[in-house]
Amino acid sequence: MAEATTQARAPTIFDRVVAATPGTPRLEMCIQCGTCGGSCPSGADMDHTPRALFAMIKAGMETQVLSSNTPWYCVSCYYCTVRCPQEVHVTDLMYTLKRFSIQEKYYQDSSSADAPPFSQTFIHYVENYGRSFELGLATWYHLKYHPLDMPKIMPMATGLLRKGRIDITPKKIKGMDNLKAILAKAKELEGEI
Ligand code: SF4
Ligand code: SF4
Repeated sequence: MAEATTQARAPTIFDRVVAATPGTPRLEMCIQCGTCGGSCPSGADMDHTPRALFAMIKAGMETQVLSSNTPWYCVSCYYCTVRCPQEVHVTDLMYTLKRFSIQEKYYQDSSSADAPPFSQTFIHYVENYGRSFELGLATWYHLKYHPLDMPKIMPMATGLLRKGRIDITPKKIKGMDNLKAILAKAKELEGEI
Protein backbone atom coordinates (compact mmCIF):
# COMPACT_ATOMS: atom_id res chain seq x y z
CA MET A 1 0.00 0.00 0.00
CA ALA A 2 1.34 3.40 -0.95
CA GLU A 3 2.44 5.43 2.02
CA ALA A 4 0.58 8.71 2.47
CA THR A 5 2.89 11.69 2.27
CA THR A 6 2.24 14.82 4.29
CA GLN A 7 3.27 18.03 2.59
CA ALA A 8 3.55 21.16 4.71
CA ARG A 9 1.64 24.02 3.10
CA ALA A 10 3.39 27.37 2.73
CA PRO A 11 2.26 29.90 5.34
CA THR A 12 -0.41 32.23 3.99
CA ILE A 13 -0.39 35.99 4.49
CA PHE A 14 -2.94 35.37 7.27
CA ASP A 15 -0.55 32.95 9.05
CA ARG A 16 2.39 35.31 8.65
CA VAL A 17 0.56 38.38 9.91
CA VAL A 18 -0.77 36.56 12.97
CA ALA A 19 2.63 35.04 13.76
CA ALA A 20 4.43 38.39 13.46
CA THR A 21 2.00 40.37 15.61
CA PRO A 22 2.88 40.42 19.31
CA GLY A 23 0.49 38.69 21.71
CA THR A 24 -2.77 37.24 20.38
CA PRO A 25 -4.07 39.57 17.68
CA ARG A 26 -7.41 37.70 17.30
CA LEU A 27 -7.55 38.38 13.57
CA GLU A 28 -9.63 35.24 13.01
CA MET A 29 -12.31 36.73 15.30
CA CYS A 30 -13.20 39.60 12.94
CA ILE A 31 -16.92 39.49 12.11
CA GLN A 32 -16.77 42.28 9.49
CA CYS A 33 -19.00 44.57 11.55
CA GLY A 34 -17.24 47.71 10.27
CA THR A 35 -16.93 49.41 13.67
CA CYS A 36 -13.19 49.89 13.15
CA GLY A 37 -13.54 51.69 9.82
CA GLY A 38 -16.46 53.74 11.10
CA SER A 39 -14.36 54.90 14.06
CA CYS A 40 -11.16 55.62 12.19
CA PRO A 41 -10.15 59.30 11.89
CA SER A 42 -8.04 58.47 8.83
CA GLY A 43 -10.70 56.35 7.12
CA ALA A 44 -11.38 58.87 4.35
CA ASP A 45 -7.75 58.72 3.15
CA MET A 46 -7.37 54.94 3.31
CA ASP A 47 -7.48 52.74 0.21
CA HIS A 48 -9.30 50.10 2.28
CA THR A 49 -10.98 50.19 5.68
CA PRO A 50 -9.34 47.96 8.29
CA ARG A 51 -12.38 45.67 7.95
CA ALA A 52 -11.84 45.33 4.20
CA LEU A 53 -8.12 44.77 4.68
CA PHE A 54 -8.79 41.93 7.12
CA ALA A 55 -11.18 40.28 4.65
CA MET A 56 -8.47 40.59 1.97
CA ILE A 57 -5.91 38.98 4.31
CA LYS A 58 -8.28 36.05 4.85
CA ALA A 59 -8.75 35.81 1.07
CA GLY A 60 -4.96 35.63 0.60
CA MET A 61 -4.71 38.88 -1.40
CA GLU A 62 -1.12 39.46 -0.30
CA THR A 63 -0.01 41.91 -2.99
CA GLN A 64 -3.09 44.11 -2.63
CA VAL A 65 -2.86 44.04 1.17
CA LEU A 66 0.80 44.98 1.34
CA SER A 67 0.46 47.68 -1.33
CA SER A 68 -2.49 49.32 0.42
CA ASN A 69 -1.93 52.75 1.90
CA THR A 70 -4.16 51.86 4.86
CA PRO A 71 -1.47 50.99 7.44
CA TRP A 72 0.40 54.16 6.46
CA TYR A 73 -2.58 56.34 7.23
CA CYS A 74 -3.10 54.65 10.60
CA VAL A 75 -2.14 57.19 13.25
CA SER A 76 -2.12 54.59 16.06
CA CYS A 77 -4.94 56.21 18.00
CA TYR A 78 -6.21 52.76 19.12
CA TYR A 79 -9.83 53.92 18.81
CA CYS A 80 -10.70 50.93 16.60
CA THR A 81 -9.04 48.53 19.02
CA VAL A 82 -10.98 49.92 21.97
CA ARG A 83 -14.29 49.78 20.09
CA CYS A 84 -13.92 46.40 18.36
CA PRO A 85 -16.61 44.06 19.78
CA GLN A 86 -14.37 41.08 19.05
CA GLU A 87 -11.28 42.54 20.70
CA VAL A 88 -9.27 42.26 17.49
CA HIS A 89 -5.93 44.05 17.94
CA VAL A 90 -6.48 46.26 14.92
CA THR A 91 -3.72 48.79 15.61
CA ASP A 92 -1.08 46.15 16.29
CA LEU A 93 -2.05 44.43 13.05
CA MET A 94 -1.55 47.72 11.22
CA TYR A 95 2.00 47.89 12.59
CA THR A 96 2.70 44.36 11.33
CA LEU A 97 1.36 45.19 7.87
CA LYS A 98 3.49 48.32 7.75
CA ARG A 99 6.58 46.30 8.69
CA PHE A 100 5.87 43.65 6.02
CA SER A 101 5.24 46.37 3.46
CA ILE A 102 8.70 47.81 4.12
CA GLN A 103 10.50 44.47 4.35
CA GLU A 104 8.98 43.22 1.11
CA LYS A 105 9.16 46.61 -0.63
CA TYR A 106 5.47 46.74 -1.45
CA TYR A 107 5.15 50.25 -0.06
CA GLN A 108 6.78 51.53 -3.25
CA ASP A 109 3.56 50.59 -5.07
CA SER A 110 1.33 52.12 -2.43
CA SER A 111 -0.67 55.24 -3.14
CA SER A 112 1.11 56.72 -0.13
CA ALA A 113 4.70 55.96 -1.15
CA ASP A 114 5.78 59.20 0.58
CA ALA A 115 4.63 57.88 3.96
CA PRO A 116 7.60 55.57 4.72
CA PRO A 117 10.22 58.32 4.29
CA PHE A 118 8.01 60.59 6.40
CA SER A 119 7.96 57.92 9.14
CA GLN A 120 11.73 57.47 8.86
CA THR A 121 12.31 61.21 9.31
CA PHE A 122 9.98 61.23 12.31
CA ILE A 123 11.92 58.29 13.79
CA HIS A 124 15.21 60.08 13.11
CA TYR A 125 14.08 62.97 15.32
CA VAL A 126 12.78 60.67 18.05
CA GLU A 127 16.01 58.64 18.08
CA ASN A 128 18.25 61.70 18.20
CA TYR A 129 16.22 64.16 20.25
CA GLY A 130 13.68 62.02 22.10
CA ARG A 131 10.76 63.86 20.51
CA SER A 132 9.40 64.96 17.19
CA PHE A 133 10.48 68.30 15.69
CA GLU A 134 7.34 69.53 13.96
CA LEU A 135 8.86 72.46 12.07
CA GLY A 136 11.69 70.36 10.60
CA LEU A 137 9.38 67.49 9.77
CA ALA A 138 6.76 69.65 8.05
CA THR A 139 9.35 71.69 6.17
CA TRP A 140 11.23 68.62 4.95
CA TYR A 141 8.03 66.87 3.90
CA HIS A 142 6.58 69.79 1.98
CA LEU A 143 9.86 70.73 0.30
CA LYS A 144 10.38 67.15 -0.87
CA TYR A 145 6.86 66.10 -1.80
CA HIS A 146 4.60 69.16 -2.02
CA PRO A 147 6.81 72.20 -2.69
CA LEU A 148 3.92 74.07 -4.28
CA ASP A 149 2.05 73.90 -0.95
CA MET A 150 4.88 75.65 0.94
CA PRO A 151 3.31 79.12 0.68
CA LYS A 152 0.13 77.70 2.25
CA ILE A 153 1.83 76.32 5.37
CA MET A 154 4.18 79.25 5.95
CA PRO A 155 1.58 81.57 7.60
CA MET A 156 0.48 78.77 9.95
CA ALA A 157 4.11 77.91 10.87
CA THR A 158 4.91 81.57 11.48
CA GLY A 159 1.85 81.96 13.72
CA LEU A 160 2.74 78.86 15.75
CA LEU A 161 6.35 80.06 16.12
CA ARG A 162 5.21 83.51 17.26
CA LYS A 163 2.95 81.98 19.90
CA GLY A 164 5.73 79.66 21.10
CA ARG A 165 3.71 76.56 20.16
CA ILE A 166 6.56 75.03 18.14
CA ASP A 167 10.35 75.27 18.42
CA ILE A 168 12.59 76.77 15.78
CA THR A 169 15.32 74.17 16.41
CA PRO A 170 15.04 70.59 17.75
CA LYS A 171 15.59 70.23 21.51
CA LYS A 172 16.78 67.07 23.23
CA ILE A 173 14.81 65.61 26.11
CA LYS A 174 16.49 64.85 29.43
CA GLY A 175 17.60 61.24 29.83
CA MET A 176 18.43 60.77 26.16
CA ASP A 177 20.93 58.02 27.04
CA ASN A 178 18.18 56.05 28.79
CA LEU A 179 15.87 56.43 25.79
CA LYS A 180 18.62 55.28 23.42
CA ALA A 181 19.17 52.18 25.57
CA ILE A 182 15.41 51.44 25.50
CA LEU A 183 15.25 51.89 21.72
CA ALA A 184 18.31 49.68 21.22
CA LYS A 185 16.70 46.94 23.33
CA ALA A 186 13.42 47.28 21.41
CA LYS A 187 15.30 46.87 18.11
CA GLU A 188 17.10 43.83 19.48
CA LEU A 189 13.78 42.26 20.56
CA GLU A 190 12.18 43.08 17.22
CA GLY A 191 14.99 41.18 15.52
CA GLU A 192 14.11 38.18 17.63
CA ILE A 193 10.41 38.14 16.65
S1 SF4 B 1 -14.44 46.29 14.62
FE1 SF4 B 1 -13.41 44.34 14.98
S2 SF4 B 1 -14.87 42.76 14.37
FE2 SF4 B 1 -15.62 44.70 13.54
S3 SF4 B 1 -14.78 44.74 11.42
FE3 SF4 B 1 -13.32 45.81 12.74
S4 SF4 B 1 -11.83 44.24 13.37
FE4 SF4 B 1 -13.63 43.18 12.56
S1 SF4 C 1 -5.59 52.96 15.31
FE1 SF4 C 1 -5.30 53.33 13.12
S2 SF4 C 1 -6.84 52.06 12.10
FE2 SF4 C 1 -7.44 52.25 14.25
S3 SF4 C 1 -8.86 53.98 14.35
FE3 SF4 C 1 -6.82 54.77 14.82
S4 SF4 C 1 -6.01 55.43 12.83
FE4 SF4 C 1 -7.76 54.10 12.39
